[in-house]
Amino acid sequence: MKCRRPALIVLFLVCLLAAPATSRAEATTHYWLARPLPPTANLTVERGFPYGWTRNGTSPIHHGVDIVNRLNTPVLAAANGTVYYAGNDAERMFGPSPDFYGNLVVIQHDIAAPDGSAVYTLYGHLNGITVQTGQRVGQGQIIGGVGKTGIAVWYHLHFEVRVGSGDDYNATRNPELWYAPRPGTATLIGRIVDANGGLAMGIRFTLSIRNSIYPGWTYADPGIHNDPTYSENFAVGDLPAGCYYLRVRNGHGGYAYAKQVCLKSGETVFLEVQLAP
Ligand SMILES: [Zn+2]
Repeated sequence: MKCRRPALIVLFLVCLLAAPATSRAEATTHYWLARPLPPTANLTVERGFPYGWTRNGTSPIHHGVDIVNRLNTPVLAAANGTVYYAGNDAERMFGPSPDFYGNLVVIQHDIAAPDGSAVYTLYGHLNGITVQTGQRVGQGQIIGGVGKTGIAVWYHLHFEVRVGSGDDYNATRNPELWYAPRPGTATLIGRIVDANGGLAMGIRFTLSIRNSIYPGWTYADPGIHNDPTYSENFAVGDLPAGCYYLRVRNGHGGYAYAKQVCLKSGETVFLEVQLAP
């Protein structure tokens, strides 16, 4: 079954026999945020540590995305709003432990989530901060510079989207569902379930095209919020347009899933996958 919508194409490639969740075909994207870095900066999300991953249980759940850049690369407000907090999290907790994000900015945006909840963005590990709590900011305004304060081993921006609470570490959503794919690329959103229909957690998959392989993992924990619009358990943004093989190994030398998915520039594609035993 293949449904086309102006902003979202839904492919239920494996649900030809089972009744698909047709409500998702009605979904529309909510790409309300701009990139939190200038166009000249590196905008590519670190694929080795995506949203919802735990490095096989060796790290806390990753509640955002990491974008590596040089020290003091300008960090920009992703949308209009009011600075909810600007400072260090050594005194006020935003993560699982003090001084987790180091210098951070949290912005409460003027827009609301589809259910009416407040939307916040969080910018962590900043070197410097150029705004103050309570200040109004406009989309694209410089709010600080990239650093590695808090728990960070390299210079990068840790970027989060929180819905409903700016303080709650567990209120996050996948940021890649909130900004549009860059020109020439597409966003792939998916929901991978096991042979019994249960949500497959922490599953490694690969997206391969010509000589490039993009690794990915499904969300590693049931406590990780997916987006009510999609009920996804993975999302990969900024995939160059083209035809990919999505593969999930089965641990027996074969594949629990292997199919081609083609992405056009500007598309958002939803893929529902059921793994073979
Ligand atoms: Zn991070």
